[in-house]
Amino acid sequence: MNILFIEDDAIETMKLHRTLGKLGLHHDIIEAKNGEEALAILNSDVKLPDMIFLDLNMPRMSGIEFLKILKAHDSYRYLPTVVLTTSQNRADLLECYKIGIAGYVIKPLKYEDYAEKLRKVFEYWEANELVKK
Ligand SMILES: [Mg+2]
Repeated sequence: MNILFIEDDAIETMKLHRTLGKLGLHHDIIEAKNGEEALAILNSDVKLPDMIFLDLNMPRMSGIEFLKILKAHDSYRYLPTVVLTTSQNRADLLECYKIGIAGYVIKPLKYEDYAEKLRKVFEYWEANELVKK
């Protein structure tokens, strides 16, 4: 899969790459450091990602602001978007589901738990039909 990974923390991005390696998964990760950068990538000529992983707390444009723009767009609204966050804030969770997300994953502190959660997320999405466009 082509995954647009929107995350401002470089350590989290490294953790994702490390986890994909550990799980033996070969997905193409397109990195964006905030919502603005992610929109610029979507608006460029590259083919749309199969899915999006979205952090919520980011400078410039938060995950929720990005999500609102994404879901208001004629083509982008179909991209399954999984929130990957440390936010246990129930208001954030409800707001995200209201706008339209494909999942809300709270990142566990322990690395092994994080890797196991991600393994399940990838396994689930590999079994899904994706938009492919
Ligand atoms: Mg962040």
